Amino acid sequence: MTENIPNRSGDPFTTDDESQILNTIDRWLEKDVKDKVLALDHADEYPTQMVEQMKSLGLFGATISQRYGGLGMPSASYAKVVTAVSEVWMSLTGIFNSHLIMAAAVERFGTEEQRQRFLPKFATGEIRGGLALTEPSCGTDLQAIRTKAHKDGDHYVINGAKTWISNGIQGDCVALLVKTDTEIQPRHKGMSLFLAEKGPGFSVGPKLKKLGYKGIDSAELFFDDYVIAANNLIGGQEGHGFHHTVGGLELGRINIAARGVGVANAALKAATSYAQTRETMGKPIGQHQAIQTKLGDMATRCHAARLLVQDAAQAYDRGERCDMEAGMAKLFASEAAMENASECMRIHGAYGYSKESHVERYYRDAPLMCIGEGTNEMQRIIIARQLMERNPV
Ligand SMILES: Cc1cc2nc3c(=O)[nH]c(=O)nc-3n(C[C@H](O)[C@H](O)[C@H](O)COP(=O)(O)OP(=O)(O)OC[C@H]3O[C@@H](n4cnc5c(N)ncnc54)[C@H](O)[C@@H]3O)c2cc1C
Repeated sequence: MTENIPNRSGDPFTTDDESQILNTIDRWLEKDVKDKVLALDHADEYPTQMVEQMKSLGLFGATISQRYGGLGMPSASYAKVVTAVSEVWMSLTGIFNSHLIMAAAVERFGTEEQRQRFLPKFATGEIRGGLALTEPSCGTDLQAIRTKAHKDGDHYVINGAKTWISNGIQGDCVALLVKTDTEIQPRHKGMSLFLAEKGPGFSVGPKLKKLGYKGIDSAELFFDDYVIAANNLIGGQEGHGFHHTVGGLELGRINIAARGVGVANAALKAATSYAQTRETMGKPIGQHQAIQTKLGDMATRCHAARLLVQDAAQAYDRGERCDMEAGMAKLFASEAAMENASECMRIHGAYGYSKESHVERYYRDAPLMCIGEGTNEMQRIIIARQLMERNPV
């Protein structure tokens, strides 16, 4: 039966649309992705061909409104796409996820001229990018950033450096958080977000080497008297960059949580299957209670994580404040991914330690979700603060 799924942008989107997109994604993962993941991951190779396929699937415009050429997916439907892709290869989601957070900043906070200039090209994947917040000296404490922009006529000149930027090498632009006023208090009032396109003065370091999350490029970005037009300041007014960034992190956290569900599910599926085929003491290991208790906990974590993600995403789609719900989903789902990846490896014994299967990759990929889009330590603090704010005495 066709029902409408609530959507912040007001785009028409139905349960039939959702099923159709999820089926198409599943077919693509089965046909073009699954068998190539091990080789690409081990070589830390950028999946160029898959990126072209993701363009055709519309993934670079998944959450961009239909009036700007996107699919206009509600966050709750998009989270299911992210989970499905992450079950097969979590790295792929980073290529369109941080791009879509950048796009969301333009769509939610940009001027109409900026939306029309950028969003149609973002939606097709012709221009791709990410989010440049973190610096060598700070990640959590974003208000301590040192990258500065000063105004000079109809443009700004930017100096500074960013690090760990996803899509930094392969992307064409980033949503760049800078200080436009270093003296003002509170510090966030001096922060602004620009849409920075690559050009003279904007250079990129080599691909950073990582434990997991292979394939996708993470890089340092350098700004050395980089000149940017004033009309690339998102929203056109200085001082709102922190608000624009934090606004995007709510969605970012739901997306990271959806990735956690994907990795947790993948680990559960591998473990459930192996438990029924590997035998010890004359029976499948899944017949031993020690393995059953692990599977029971793993399945429960997956189910709870998926429900938390859907709850947060639906609140986001209704336009409600949902930092507490997004924080809970992100915290629980990323820890579920960590625990399930670890248990999956134990259930597989030595085979879980082998580079010949995906199991060791889940173990390497899972920790990223505990760090990105606000560490889990910070999520606990955000949840506790919201709890008290919503329940004053
Ligand atoms: C693979 C990868 C991809 C990434 N992609 C991007 C990207 O695309 N764009 C981007 O901007 N950034 C990106 N990041 C950076 C990421 O967002 C930061 O690593 C993260 O925000 C944490 O910052 P930090 O590493 O500087 O840790 P720090 O802020 O130095 O924190 C160190 C430790 O202290 C804890 N801590 C800090 N402050 C507090 C506090 N007040 N109370 C309690 N504990 C605290 C933290 O939880 C953490 O455990 C990426 C990182 C990785 C690893």
